[in-house]
Amino acid sequence: MTWLKTEKEPYSFEERLLCPICDFDYIHLLSIKVATNRGLTIVDHKGTTVRYAGKIEECEAAADRGGYRIIAEYVCENGHRGYLIFQFHEGNIFVSHEVVGRVVDWEELWRG
Ligand SMILES: [Zn+2]
Repeated sequence: MTWLKTEKEPYSFEERLLCPICDFDYIHLLSIKVATNRGLTIVDHKGTTVRYAGKIEECEAAADRGGYRIIAEYVCENGHRGYLIFQFHEGNIFVSHEVVGRVVDWEELWRG
């Protein structure tokens, strides 16, 4: 786990996500995953996939914290890959960040 890093945009209320490893602000979204107790929905450059059967790591993690988990997978242009994770428990939304390694070649969610 690492802390989120953002940069405030001038003249707006938006913040830009920075790579937690190299602080680069050119970050590309690879996938969005929504995990529940019942299954996993993945939206990526290939389309939408839904999984219900078998051992699903994301669903097990969701079950540990309120039953739902949303994961945004990204990569910075220096190849650092990470997850921005939203979890829910008793009216609170928890945001965490996990660095998961490097990638050399990737398919961006929007340009597939
Ligand atoms: Zn980086």
